[in-house]
Amino acid sequence: MSTPSGLLYDSHQRFHNYLRISLIEKCNLRCTYCMPSAGIQLSPKESLMTSDEVYEIARVFVQHGVDKIRLTGGEPLLRKDFGAILDRLSTLDASLALTTNGVLLDRYIDDLKRAGLRKINFSLDTLNPESFNTITLRDQFDRVHSNLQRVIKEGFDVKINAVLLKNQNEEEIIDFIELTRSQPLSIRFIEFMPFQGNAWDQSKTVSLASILKRVEHFYGAAQVERLQDAPNDTAKNYKIRGFKGSFAVISTVTNPFCDSCNRIRLTANGKLRNCLFSDKEQDLLSALRSGVSIEPVIQKALQLKKAVRAGLDSPETFEDYHTHQSNRSMIKIGG
Ligand code: SAM
Ligand code: SF4
Repeated sequence: MSTPSGLLYDSHQRFHNYLRISLIEKCNLRCTYCMPSAGIQLSPKESLMTSDEVYEIARVFVQHGVDKIRLTGGEPLLRKDFGAILDRLSTLDASLALTTNGVLLDRYIDDLKRAGLRKINFSLDTLNPESFNTITLRDQFDRVHSNLQRVIKEGFDVKINAVLLKNQNEEEIIDFIELTRSQPLSIRFIEFMPFQGNAWDQSKTVSLASILKRVEHFYGAAQVERLQDAPNDTAKNYKIRGFKGSFAVISTVTNPFCDSCNRIRLTANGKLRNCLFSDKEQDLLSALRSGVSIEPVIQKALQLKKAVRAGLDSPETFEDYHTHQSNRSMIKIGG
């Protein structure tokens, strides 16, 4: 690994060794909590990063101490040159991970293996085909489900990401946890978060506390074991005693975990974002294209990073949906 330089520290002494790169703004699903109902304005093609630019930016980050890169989107597997991007990134001294909705995964199994990418976050919010259509507005459940089975069988390290929505899929919490009884899976329940155009309100978010209450009621509190979280983990991890897999909750809304944040995000059009909830971005791609060093741009992004959720540090400021309207929608940030 490269020796960490001072560049990736923010003013709260957090070191950012984890780069999340969004490869594309387009998606083949329309998850209602992510894609605004009015659609999104796509960036012009020429303002999106090419595969060479993705590599060059990632290389600079790795040189300064990034040792984990996650590819996301939109739907990253829609990118025609996904295999080529993977091949180039695999030459860097960093572990690779992928977040995907799984629709196209079967096409890329060999590319993932060749690049040594083992960690897949597989987004699946329901185990019910009808609810899948209601949540994603696309009839792709069978394909997604069969690709999930395939990657588990192929031995990838799979985490299922499920965004829980009140009165929609919260009744499936136990069904999801039952998948971990005999399979080495991790199910991560994500609290529904506010972004531009996703009609968020706090009452639709299923909280960490209510998830745990339901699980303890079903299995008995003594059966629910709190696991040690990995350093910088955004999830609070648990397992049911005797089960092969585990489950976790990502509680950004009710219990933020900013103290240990080590993430920095690059959008598909080359803007650097220091927080999911910040509407301030630094234009890394323009700097790269104009031939100047991108390091000062990285430094600026990190120095501007706030201690907690882009400065929305009280429940009152965070829960005011208007404050999120100038932020990008999740599909254009990359999760
Ligand atoms: N298309 C890929 C996928 O769905 O996995 C990658 C991009 S998606 C934006 C990344 C993650 O963000 C997904 O796990 C998705 O469930 C999550 N996400 C999107 N909108 C969200 C929201 N409003 N609240 C919480 N999680 C959200
Ligand atoms: Fe697409 Fe992923 Fe957003 Fe769903 S969550 S609309 S799959 S980008």
